[in-house]
Amino acid sequence: MAPASAQPAQAQYFTGTAWVKMLANAGNATDCTVGDVLFEPGCRNNWHSHPHGQLLVVTSGTGYYQEKGQPARLLRPGDTVVIAPDVVHWHGATATDWFAHLAINPSASQGAPVWLEPVTDAEYQAVH
Ligand code: MN
Repeated sequence: MAPASAQPAQAQYFTGTAWVKMLANAGNATDCTVGDVLFEPGCRNNWHSHPHGQLLVVTSGTGYYQEKGQPARLLRPGDTVVIAPDVVHWHGATATDWFAHLAINPSASQGAPVWLEPVTDAEYQAVH
């Protein structure tokens, strides 16, 4: 399923396996990075936040987005998520579907994501 040009995502920040193909790398004139991220079923990233926010654009499959203390949002192709700076959240696949989104990170040179604890199985199962 993973595109041939994709690289495995940083495993320490994910439960399960994800792949990332960078479409716009750091250092370009817009200072936005764009990554095409593919999650296997059940895969999600750790709780985290972005110092300058993030945009997600869903391209295939079915997944979830959840902010800390809020209900999870079910995502399908064409959905977009606007994530405000410093909001703690996670994103990933449903238990049964692959999931892919574009992750757009503005002001990429001005600060890296802040990675927190994994989404536990109990937290993940609670959204289904
Ligand atoms: Mn994020």
